[in-house]
Amino acid sequence: MTERVCKWCGGGMVGKRSDAVFCSIKCYSASYSSANAERLAEYGRKYYQANPDYFAEYGRKYYQANPDYFAERNRKYYQANRELIAERNRKYRKANREQIAEKKRAKRAALNAKDPAP
Ligand SMILES: [Zn+2]
Repeated sequence: MTERVCKWCGGGMVGKRSDAVFCSIKCYSASYSSANAERLAEYGRKYYQANPDYFAEYGRKYYQANPDYFAERNRKYYQANRELIAERNRKYRKANREQIAEKKRAKRAALNAKDPAP
């Protein structure tokens, strides 16, 4: 008699039913997810699109509950992509020169209205 092994992890099947294929629900689930990855991804995309408000709220709460994580992630991203970000900002400023100047004028006008120079 050959010793049966789990179809997913190759682990032992001691104490399992004679027709069992996996050692645990974890291995069954991992095997199923792997075999149906495309279908499950599509289902996830559809669920995400059907519940935009839920995911927006969930994201906001998660972001607020983990400020240190996101600060660190943003810092790492900035450091790893410093050149790319600088180049993107240069292109944006070049393409939107007039809008940026207008925004600056509006900001200056608002500041002067709030706190007029003597
Ligand atoms: Zn297993």
